[in-house]
Amino acid sequence: MDEFQIIDTIKNRIKTPSDLVAGIGDDCAVIPPQGASLVTTDMLMDGVHFNCGQDPWELIGRKVLAVNISDIAAMGGYPTYAFLSLALPKGIEESHLTSFMDGFLALAKEFQIVLAGGDTNVWQKDFAVSVCLHGRPFGKNICYRSGAKVGDFIFVTGPLGGSLESKRHLHFTPRVREARYLAERHRVNSMIDISDGLVSDLGHICAQSGVGYELQLDTLPINTNLSMLRPEERIQKALTDGEDFELCFTTDPDSAKALIEDNARGFPVWLVGEIKSSQFYLGHFEGNRMDLTGYFGFKHSI
Ligand code: ADP
Ligand code: MG
Repeated sequence: MDEFQIIDTIKNRIKTPSDLVAGIGDDCAVIPPQGASLVTTDMLMDGVHFNCGQDPWELIGRKVLAVNISDIAAMGGYPTYAFLSLALPKGIEESHLTSFMDGFLALAKEFQIVLAGGDTNVWQKDFAVSVCLHGRPFGKNICYRSGAKVGDFIFVTGPLGGSLESKRHLHFTPRVREARYLAERHRVNSMIDISDGLVSDLGHICAQSGVGYELQLDTLPINTNLSMLRPEERIQKALTDGEDFELCFTTDPDSAKALIEDNARGFPVWLVGEIKSSQFYLGHFEGNRMDLTGYFGFKHSI
């Protein structure tokens, strides 16, 4: 298949809704104005974010969209239009591309996302893919990283660590439902999605808000696939493993109280610590204080 046949095959699978002025087929998509837009992009590459030789193609297609949805959720929003740019290895089997699109489009359908454009290239190198995702905030308040205040309580939306070993990084559900609930019922001061490990991502909130943190590590929610490890190792992984894609957010103590009460009604969030002034990056574990300054999650380095 050539580039244009591939684009046609993709286009034929899309139903463009009437509220999108122009989707696939012109030089640009045309998105109608409607308040604030959230726009994110994430690039994923064979051998780094997935492994074409091992991972099912449907799940690769699912993941490339899911990680972008997670970023939209982290701002307190929901996704609307996606743009998919493909660098296809020459000779890729058509059935693999079809499976990739199956996974991508199934998740798009689940979140009512419309594929509104993209780019298709073929080269002699490995598969790489970039998604640009457009979204809108659920409420009036967009949740920035920079809004954390001293005294805020710190929450996460699920257990952490071991995502790569358990393959959860290919299956996870982006936390849009949680983002909606938080945006509509509670006041979030700051939020981020945990893609590079809790300490790293909470560190971004702290750096941008000019604050620090204290974490209660004895009660940190940790994924059960790590339960065979010693407690110290388990905590270390929960703090630094990448690709959890849970939300980490902070609220003032009054909102935190309301949130914890809601918790009992079936909306699970875990209280993991408190925002402190900027000189504190601390963890408490079995009565000991641990300095978490210099703890890092995943970082790409050149
Ligand atoms: P141009 O040369 O003007 O950039 P293209 O030929 O690359 O246009 O693309 C034609 C149309 O097909 C555009 O609307 C573009 O957004 C869309 N498109 C190309 N590749 C993809 C893809 N992988 N997924 C969705 N839409 C795509
Ligand atoms: Mg053009």
